[in-house]
Amino acid sequence: MPEEKSDGIKIKNIAKLFTLLLLTRGDLSGYDIMKGIGSRLGGRASPGQVYPFLRQLKAYGYIETAGAAGERERQVYHLTQEGREFVSRLSSRFEDLFEMAIRPKLTTCAHCSCEIYRGAYREKIGEEYLSFCCKNCANGYRAMKNTGE
Ligand SMILES: [Zn+2]
Repeated sequence: MPEEKSDGIKIKNIAKLFTLLLLTRGDLSGYDIMKGIGSRLGGRASPGQVYPFLRQLKAYGYIETAGAAGERERQVYHLTQEGREFVSRLSSRFEDLFEMAIRPKLTTCAHCSCEIYRGAYREKIGEEYLSFCCKNCANGYRAMKNTGE
């Protein structure tokens, strides 16, 4: 059964997840995938993060080589129907990660409501973890909460 087979591939890191996500958007070469992962995660993905996984996906029938394309005639990979089903099964299991990868959610500071693009300051206040733009806002929020009680 395809369902059982799919569990044979373990998606343990974000590079693998991105490889699959990138492939859902079109046929890509291993080089395109390394570049795509690099531009999203910063830095550059190594061939070792990408090619063994591509070979594995191919062995499972989730991708097929679609011939060479582009100026440099690189081998491109194409997600098969089974591959697409595998990705959609994964996406329900990794909903949060996919959400993060595809549309970065904008966080707002719990104190001043400014938008936080990266590196929110997180602190547990009362029973919940809240995001702040900086430590001062966390202190301000806590002070307000304490006087309110
Ligand atoms: Zn703030």
